[in-house]
Amino acid sequence: MQRSQQIPSILLFGMPGVGKGTQGALLGTMQGQVHISTGDIFRRLDPDSEDGQVVAHHIDHGELVPDEITVRIWMHWLDQEVTQGRILPGSDILILDGIPRSVRQCELMQDIIEVLAVLHLDPTDDEPIIERLRRRADTEGRADDADEEIIRRRMQIYRDKTSPVVNFYADEIVHHIDPIGTQMEIKKRILEHVIPARRRFEQAG
Ligand code: AMP
Repeated sequence: MQRSQQIPSILLFGMPGVGKGTQGALLGTMQGQVHISTGDIFRRLDPDSEDGQVVAHHIDHGELVPDEITVRIWMHWLDQEVTQGRILPGSDILILDGIPRSVRQCELMQDIIEVLAVLHLDPTDDEPIIERLRRRADTEGRADDADEEIIRRRMQIYRDKTSPVVNFYADEIVHHIDPIGTQMEIKKRILEHVIPARRRFEQAG
């Protein structure tokens, strides 16, 4: 893709089950914002394709998909969305849910996206989140949520590989948000940071 500029982006960040998908979908309904869930992109891959098989193997084991493969698939998807006019690079803000998930991914993506804000959904206690994952296994039928051992493994990988992502970005744009509460309460906390980030971006442009 020929890009004259990076695409402005807001990162939804936090451990599995913290509500990134729900809040991302809400943010994606707002004008000029497009929600992208990497997990959803992965789950929609053709299961018979080579990428589909590699990705499914990692997801089923609670592992991260390797960084280069992740960013390649994500960029291919972004290219298609732009080509088909569903994302307007000159005006839309991407709400990225589930990417970047490692410092290497931050590096691979830094020429592509301009990060306006990192919204870190950051619980004080993991247990309500693990309980939420168990419930999601029933409602969404996700195998990676159903197995206690795989849940614990994903949490461990989050601590080891993903949590350093917040340190990659300047402190001024990282916001820690309590993800426990009603959907509306959390949305309000998030908007308290999204609105000024968008305003700063629009004024700078
Ligand atoms: P999610 O729906 O965001 O919980 O993602 C489901 C699974 O997809 C994760 O447990 C990983 O196996 C994989 N995945 C999603 N996003 C990424 C990423 N940025 N890097 C590597 N693996 C990912």
